[in-house]
Amino acid sequence: MANSGQRVVLITGCSSGIGLRIAVTLANDEKKRYHVIATMRDLKKKDKLVEAAGDAYGKTLMLLPLDVCSDESVKQCINNVKDRHIDILINNAGVGLLGPVESISIDEMKRVFETNFFGVVRMIKEVMPDMKKRRSGHIVVMSSVMGLQGVVFNDVYTASKFAMEGFCESMAVQLMKFNIRLSMIEPGPVHTEFETKMMEDVAKMEYPGVDADTVRYFKDVYLPSSIDIFEAMGQTPEDIAKCTKKVIE
Ligand code: NDP
Repeated sequence: MANSGQRVVLITGCSSGIGLRIAVTLANDEKKRYHVIATMRDLKKKDKLVEAAGDAYGKTLMLLPLDVCSDESVKQCINNVKDRHIDILINNAGVGLLGPVESISIDEMKRVFETNFFGVVRMIKEVMPDMKKRRSGHIVVMSSVMGLQGVVFNDVYTASKFAMEGFCESMAVQLMKFNIRLSMIEPGPVHTEFETKMMEDVAKMEYPGVDADTVRYFKDVYLPSSIDIFEAMGQTPEDIAKCTKKVIE
């Protein structure tokens, strides 16, 4: 349970990558300012987080199951938080999808929007009433540079992040008068499983109906340059966790 003076932080998607590192960083805060509720859709994946959290596990860090695509799971998770009191919600869970629109089914596209867009909306809808009652709170959303700029063959992922940017910009104005902050974080490339999955997607990619120039541009220009960018400028999950900590301080 949180000590008085500790802020309750709930983070989505903590089984790996950025979410895991944010949870570990906040739970190990030198002044113990945060009581971290690290959530993941499958608690069987908890070992990496528990190991990385060290002594903080069971003290400043606890775990709850949460699938942001399920209304029921979201409700159950928030009901399991004492008094439903969350000071800071960090919407981190997200999925990528790379490939030409011609080769992606509408169902696959919906899965991306269910997670990256409606997943965030579901969480905000669930915590907002209690934050409004207390007239305090901070909602953080992990967007991406692709929430600001379109990128070839990332059409659906980019669209899901753009949608979230628009939603949050509009919401921020309404939340301001309840003293609730809404912050977006827009990382460039970060070395996580996201990157690994993206490279696997590239290897399997097919280009039905895509014109030869676009395929050539993707293979000969975009891919080599984005690999260079990843190598030269790719950030670590620790970098993003430090940035997130600054945002909520
Ligand atoms: P990872 O693939 O390492 O982590 C994604 C996390 O989201 C996993 O814990 C995954 O859980 C979880 N997740 C997926 N679907 C759901 C769901 N329905 N409910 C709950 N959790 C879910 O990727 P990153 O750490 O890199 O990505 C984290 C966020 O950062 C994403 O929103 C991504 O868009 C964003 N981002 C990433 C960048 C990058 O280059 N890596 C760049 C810019 C933004 P599970 O293990 O169960 O799949």
